[in-house]
Amino acid sequence: MLALAAVAGCSNRAGDTRDNVVLVMVDTLRADHLGCYGYQRDTSPNLDRLATAGVLFENFYSVAPWTNPAIASLFTGRYPRAVFPPLPHKKAIGIPLPSQLPTLAERLQEAGYRTVALVDHPGINPELQFDQGFEQWYSLFEDGGFDIWTVTDSDFVLDQLLVALDELGDETFFLYLHLVYPHRPYAPPAPFDSMFGSSATKTGRAHRQEMVNAYDGEIRYTDELIGRLVEVLGERQLTQSTWLMVTSDHGEGFWEHNQAEHGNSLFNELTRIPMILVPPQKERVAGLRVKTPASLVDLKPTILGLAGLEPEKELEGRDLRTSWSNPDDFEAPRWLFLASPHSQDVEAAAVVRGDLKYIDRLPWRQARPALFDLAEDPDEKRNLVGISPRTAEMRRRLRAHLIQTEQLRSGLLEEDEVELDKEVLERLRALGYLQ
Ligand SMILES: [Zn+2]
Repeated sequence: MLALAAVAGCSNRAGDTRDNVVLVMVDTLRADHLGCYGYQRDTSPNLDRLATAGVLFENFYSVAPWTNPAIASLFTGRYPRAVFPPLPHKKAIGIPLPSQLPTLAERLQEAGYRTVALVDHPGINPELQFDQGFEQWYSLFEDGGFDIWTVTDSDFVLDQLLVALDELGDETFFLYLHLVYPHRPYAPPAPFDSMFGSSATKTGRAHRQEMVNAYDGEIRYTDELIGRLVEVLGERQLTQSTWLMVTSDHGEGFWEHNQAEHGNSLFNELTRIPMILVPPQKERVAGLRVKTPASLVDLKPTILGLAGLEPEKELEGRDLRTSWSNPDDFEAPRWLFLASPHSQDVEAAAVVRGDLKYIDRLPWRQARPALFDLAEDPDEKRNLVGISPRTAEMRRRLRAHLIQTEQLRSGLLEEDEVELDKEVLERLRALGYLQ
């Protein structure tokens, strides 16, 4: 299933002044493990260069702590609870992306963009309807020639990328590249396996440092691939006409709050992700660093905006370009929401407003809620519930959001759970999605 059928009509670059969009989704990449976000280790020389050439969002949030709801939000522009019903994790991995909602790729395709996805994550697949709007879908993990316990070789990914770009020719395109390397199992190939010290052969809290070493090696491996992607865009003279965006779907925990991996909480090690946006060179915003909090739900309005399209009315995201074109608007206070509607069978939800972050569990009061002042307490250790007078306001706003998203979701037709095929389930198990 290397390339699914090409079905859409073609746009023609001749006379089309719109820019291309390349969106690189690096799974499981926490922001604070990148040099450009202050990390001490040299994990990200290429991403650091991109940040210098473009715009870096310092306080960028995912909307969920695991892949499927985060990608569903990215594609639809809705918050997770407005897309998927809350279900136990085992069922949730079989819930398709609703077909009634216009996805980012569908909107762009209707507007004449060529749309291509190269995806190395088994959970983001055509069976679950994530391919809506993509005329070409490359499932990299299926065709990389590697077994489920090792990673798809980055040379293979690059080859597929070149095939996809050849196919696009000089037509205006949206290319979505979803890389999975920093996801567990942490198994970077040499020399990345020993670049930051000895790598983990075992997991568990006693092996924490080796796990971090290997995770960082995976990041550096990914960074090299992104460097090669940038070279390819340059060689093809696409730099002047392409918006390059690099982000993630969630981070990864290493026992900062007594838990490892992801899916199990809404603390910042899982929810603060990188966002680097490199506009075509004509935009002249090199080196801008934006402090105002922003979110994965902002990407759809941003990409639609630069394509000259209006986002759907119910979307709450902001166009990230206004951070430099209209900073007063962009910096206006806003509410950002996070939720894990069906994550490891733990339901949690959170709201961010400026430096404040409030986290609650569902059903309400099952566990003690938490409020943190991220400016003074970036590690989220000092709970201000009962101390800060802002607690009630944050809780009220979060509850209102949950009611509102519930209403939005109730307007959707029920989508049947998909019976995933055995091989996909095996791959998901290898990534830790199933016991
Ligand atoms: Zn993920």
